[in-house]
Amino acid sequence: MITVSSLLDQHWHERYKRISKLNIRSSIYDVTNQCNLRCKGCFFFSSNEDKAAAEEKDIVKWQAFIEREKDRGVNLAILIGGEPTLHLDRVEAFYKRLPTFCATNGLIKIPRDRFPDMMLGISLWGDEADEKKLRGKDTFSISSKNYEGDPNVYYLYTLTPNQIGKIERIIVKIRDVGLKVHMQLLSNDEGVDGFNWQPEQLEVLRIEMDDMLDNYPDTLISSKYYHEIITSGKMLGRTFGWDECPSVTQPLDHRDPHPKRLIEFIRWASDLNTMHRCCTSETRDCSSCKDGAAHMSWVMVNKRAHIRRTQDLQNWIEVYEMFAKLYQFIPW
Ligand code: SF4
Ligand code: SF4
Repeated sequence: MITVSSLLDQHWHERYKRISKLNIRSSIYDVTNQCNLRCKGCFFFSSNEDKAAAEEKDIVKWQAFIEREKDRGVNLAILIGGEPTLHLDRVEAFYKRLPTFCATNGLIKIPRDRFPDMMLGISLWGDEADEKKLRGKDTFSISSKNYEGDPNVYYLYTLTPNQIGKIERIIVKIRDVGLKVHMQLLSNDEGVDGFNWQPEQLEVLRIEMDDMLDNYPDTLISSKYYHEIITSGKMLGRTFGWDECPSVTQPLDHRDPHPKRLIEFIRWASDLNTMHRCCTSETRDCSSCKDGAAHMSWVMVNKRAHIRRTQDLQNWIEVYEMFAKLYQFIPW
C-alpha cells in the first residue's frame, strides 16, 4: 500500500509533518462595500457584490459576529472588500480576536502600532502603464512607500496577458523595496479589450513564472506546481471549474455529489448576514475562473489524490507550504 512514509525521505517527511498539524479553517469577509479605487476587472464591483447587502455600521455588531465566527471554528479571517483599510475599527475587531489577513490596495498606510504583525497582501496589476489603464493610478509608487521593508507585507501581483515578458522588472522593483510577492492571474471579469487569456499565452507565462521562481526564490512565494495548475486549470488529469471548486460557501453548496472542499467555508457580505456564492465573483463563469486561492485550495483539499508518486506528494506539500506562508501559519 502506498503511504505518506513510503513516498517521502526524512527531509520531506518533516516538512509534511509541519503542515499536517495546521488544520486551517478560513472564511472571507467583505469589510466594506466602498473602495478608493475602481479597477476595471474588479470582481467585487463587476458582479454587483457591493450592492448585495447594506453595510453594517455598528462596531458592536461586528465584534459579536466575529466572536460567533470564532466559535464556529474559523482560525483564519481573510478580509477583503471593497477596501478594508477604509474601516480600521472593523479590521481591528478581527485582528484582536482571530488570526487575520487583510487584502488592500496599499494606498492607505495602516498604523503598525495598532496592527503590529497583521499580514497584508497589496494588490498590484502590472507595470505603471497597465496600472494606470486598469486602475487609474500607478499604485505601486504609493504602496511601496507606505510599506517598504515591512516583514508582514507582500504584493499580490495579478498577471495579465500584457505582463508576459515583463514580469522580471516588477519582481525586481518589489525586491528592491524589501518586500515579497505572490503571483496570480487576472480573470478579466469586465472583458477589458486585450486582457483575455489565449491558451498559448498561458503556456509561455508558465515558463516565465518558473524562471522567476528559479531566479528570485527569496522574493517570490510560489511553487512550480501552482504555476502548472493555475495556467493549465488541470490537476492530475482533472479540470478546474464548478464541479471541482473547493471555495464555494458551504451553506449555499448544493452540489451532489459535492467535491472535496474547504471545511465550513463562508464568504460573508458586509451586512454580516448575506453570503456570497464563493471566494470571488458571484457572476463569473467558472470555466474562466483563474482565482489563485481557489486553485491553491483545490490542491490542498485533494491530498489523498496526491499520495500516488513521490513527486505528486512533494508538489502537494509545496503548495500547502506556500498557502501557509501567505497566511502566516509558517515563516517565509
Ligand atoms: S482596489 Fe481592489 S476592491 Fe478596490 S476596485 Fe480595485 S480590485 Fe476592487
Ligand atoms: S467563480 Fe471560481 S471560485 Fe467561484 S465557484 Fe466558480 S470556480 Fe469557484
